[in-house]
Amino acid sequence: AFEVLVIGGGPAGASAAIYAARKGIRTGVAAERFGGQVLDTMGIENFISVSHTEGPKLAAQLEQHVRDYDVDIMNLQRAETLVPATETGGLIEVHLASGAVLKSRSVVLSTGARWRQMNVPGEDDYRNKGVAYCPHCDGPLFKGKRVAVIGGGNSGVEAAIDLAGIVAHVTLIEFDTKLRADAVLQAKLHSLPNVTVITSGQTTEVVGDGNKVTGLTYKDRTTDALHTLELEGIFVQIGLVPNTEWLKGTVALSPRGEIEVDAGGRTSVPGVFAAGDATTVPYKQIVIAMGEGSKAALSAFDYLIRLPQP
Ligand code: FAD
Repeated sequence: AFEVLVIGGGPAGASAAIYAARKGIRTGVAAERFGGQVLDTMGIENFISVSHTEGPKLAAQLEQHVRDYDVDIMNLQRAETLVPATETGGLIEVHLASGAVLKSRSVVLSTGARWRQMNVPGEDDYRNKGVAYCPHCDGPLFKGKRVAVIGGGNSGVEAAIDLAGIVAHVTLIEFDTKLRADAVLQAKLHSLPNVTVITSGQTTEVVGDGNKVTGLTYKDRTTDALHTLELEGIFVQIGLVPNTEWLKGTVALSPRGEIEVDAGGRTSVPGVFAAGDATTVPYKQIVIAMGEGSKAALSAFDYLIRLPQP
């Protein structure tokens, strides 16, 4: 059995594994895709102390750093069920899709999240070529340019306010007849001179020149008329979905499906910790996921040293 078993191999999971292994305790990582969202990222310019890197390079460095230690890496393994210990300090089980059952005294859940996509033609072709999901990450790349934000909930309106301070012009497109963001955010948005809000708008296509985004097409849902906007960037803000479906009913989740954690990364289940984008900790970023992953591993160690001797 493991002493610390990490589920997920993104920045949070890699950090948890390194911090656990450095305590000299038996550590394993099971991940569906080692590297996580970082694998899908192009330029990274806010990983502090590294001015610029690229996703696949950072993912390879994460894996190499974990391999520097005696960590059992189980890549391409999907966890399907978590079975809490039957007594305090007992073994927790994680059942994998392969049929294997892993056992550990403590578990760190770091299964991350995925951005909900528009699923329209052009979105996949122009991802990282104008189609973006993270304003904190990619906003500065569009300095002085025209962008659209898709989605009028809190994250979309926050993104539009944030981007309006950087880019030339923001068009916010909401599918519904009205914005769903908090009133204070809407008031702030409407006070900005370089923002246009379109409601009842359904994005139907991302348009590009083969290399990068040049515009988008949307349908006015009140008239069914199609319109094209010329712009350089599209920020999709229609939801970040935590990869926690498999934990429902076992670990306390927020209404949005995020794993509820306290300041030490402890979940509702004894011996089970969580970190990164899958949790209730706000602001989904690499540096934050790494800090949280380290913290969850230290909390797990703290838990282990307090267990009664078998
Ligand atoms: P993830 O990176 O999502 O990793 C989750 C891990 O869990 C993966 O290994 C996955 O395969 C695994 N997993 C999921 N479900 C299961 C399961 N059931 N069983 C086993 N394994 C499972 N952040 C920045 O700071 N700067 C940026 O420039 C930046 N740009 C981004 C660009 C894009 C396109 C995207 C999508 C994100 C970007 N982010 C950026 C956000 C950043 O990537 C995330 O905040 C970070 O990767 C979260 O780390 P994590 O370890 O919590 O989760």
